[in-house]
Amino acid sequence: MATRSANILFDCGRGVVLRLAGAGLLPIMVSGVVLTHLHSDHVCDLNDLITTHWVMSTTPTALRIVGPVGTKAFVQATLAAMATDIGYRIGHHDDLREGPLLDVVEVHPGETFAIGVQEILAGATDHRPVEPTLAYRVGEDEQSVVIAGDGVPCASLDELVRGASAYVQTVIREDLVKLVPSARLQDILDYHSTVGQAAATAQRAGVKALVLTHYVPAPVPGSEQEWRDLASGFDGIVVVGSDLTSLDLATMAVG
Ligand SMILES: [Zn+2]
Ligand SMILES: [Zn+2]
Repeated sequence: MATRSANILFDCGRGVVLRLAGAGLLPIMVSGVVLTHLHSDHVCDLNDLITTHWVMSTTPTALRIVGPVGTKAFVQATLAAMATDIGYRIGHHDDLREGPLLDVVEVHPGETFAIGVQEILAGATDHRPVEPTLAYRVGEDEQSVVIAGDGVPCASLDELVRGASAYVQTVIREDLVKLVPSARLQDILDYHSTVGQAAATAQRAGVKALVLTHYVPAPVPGSEQEWRDLASGFDGIVVVGSDLTSLDLATMAVG
């Protein structure tokens, strides 16, 4: 029987290979990487994933990397930065002489693509002045999830999220950020969703679960209910999870 499973990594920020290990996955088990945008905190460990995927491959296995326009140039620059290391590894292991095998695809809003057997739809997000930026819808109606990167609510995100089962959104605590006397920190408020904005998007879309992630600031232990309270405009399940939190779309069980 054909399997419907694929291990898809959305964004590739710091420590991602360690987190994969925590999830019981080796880099070679990643079916593909999908990038929402090229801010450093979303791509800074792509080099580690490319390298470890490559050196763990016992047969030539392409790593599919999908992202917005600019992804190809970023991957080329990453490979250039890693050229010394790549040379060392080829010098030591003759069977690695072809170098990392990558399949890099740039997508635009409204386009679909596949990672393994999984079809994924891209939609535009608003994270200006960072452009272009994308969110992604994975799966079919009853078991679909939208992974949004950074950004404020917008019509195209609403359209992508509408009727999905779960919506994963990066969020900031406006009330806490405003307490910090730093103009540069205040600047982040105008291009990230607050918890309340994420809740409003989830409510308009009619999703079953809102999954908060990429918190600013990181929730201190015991403050999870404060985050949920800020999302009170949403009637469904609000998941305030730490790294490696899981959500079963069939049962909506959080692990
Ligand atoms: Zn970010
Ligand atoms: Zn960003």
